[in-house]
Amino acid sequence: MPFRSEAEFVRWLGRHWPVRGRGLDLGIGDDAALLRAPAGRDLVVTTDLSIEDVHFRLDLHPPRAIGHRALARALSDLAAMGSKPRFALLSLALSGNLMRSWIAAFYDGLGTLARRFGVTLIGGDTAVADGAATIDTIAIGEVERGRALLRSGARPGDRVYVTGRLGLSALALELLRGSARPSTWVARSRGKAGIGRDEKQQALAAHLYPEPRCSVGVALARQGLASAAIDVSDGFATDLARLCESSGCGAVVREDQLPIPSGGLTRNALELGLYGGEDYELIFTASASRAARMPGSVGGASVREVGRITAAHRLTLVRSDGREVPLETRGYDHFRKLRASARH
Ligand SMILES: [Mg+2]
Repeated sequence: MPFRSEAEFVRWLGRHWPVRGRGLDLGIGDDAALLRAPAGRDLVVTTDLSIEDVHFRLDLHPPRAIGHRALARALSDLAAMGSKPRFALLSLALSGNLMRSWIAAFYDGLGTLARRFGVTLIGGDTAVADGAATIDTIAIGEVERGRALLRSGARPGDRVYVTGRLGLSALALELLRGSARPSTWVARSRGKAGIGRDEKQQALAAHLYPEPRCSVGVALARQGLASAAIDVSDGFATDLARLCESSGCGAVVREDQLPIPSGGLTRNALELGLYGGEDYELIFTASASRAARMPGSVGGASVREVGRITAAHRLTLVRSDGREVPLETRGYDHFRKLRASARH
């Protein structure tokens, strides 16, 4: 780590990320932070790991994007709970050969997002370690007492909504991986005229600098519009299945309503949209009466009705031609990966 002492690092950190904020009695500099819980509000706490070669690659992802994404993942979880982000703690294990310029860019990406969302850094830890770079982000938000959005509130007949677009992040990963091997990228790009230049730009932005849907979550919670919510981190199908499991129900989803890309490179658009992951959009449900007054956009993001909740405990996809097929859940699952590798 290219800093002479922890004190120097903390001083340097203060220049890159706000370390003072409302509700904070004592921030960085003591053994722990002191927070004041706001009257009539609940605190919402989440933690997210970002690990080199699991969540990012040093050869594909610029350090600014790695910093942005590390915080965005945690803020997306706060958004899914309907809470407004307030504080974060950041622990890093980095190899000693990462340059100070890399670390500065990492904090710049993270700090820019933090400032935009009013997030104050209140602590963390840093260690030099061999092996994969590891980033642990803890984020704390607040929500009006009793108004947090849960996964468990969906009921049969509720409509299913999704914000923004699905599959762009996975499309960008295909583009980035392809560009690491330019010859294959050119070959696969040809004949895929459906993916325009604008869409590629949108995909790269969605992947490298995802926008956590905090204002959507806060608006849904405040207005009491949603019966349940979850953010899309491991793929639409997998995260919808988690919401349904928590709510003890199933869902029917219409392919022609899904906001998916116009094409993919190695996977088709539907696969990217259903199983791509890292979209950091929100899936939420609303009762039929709430659905009748659902606006086309909430908190600055477009919202699209893509299906409905059923009493039957299964997921069904209505294809564009009207056929009904089981909606498989094969998004990213670390435990499934673990089981698979344990078998070999
Ligand atoms: Mg989540």
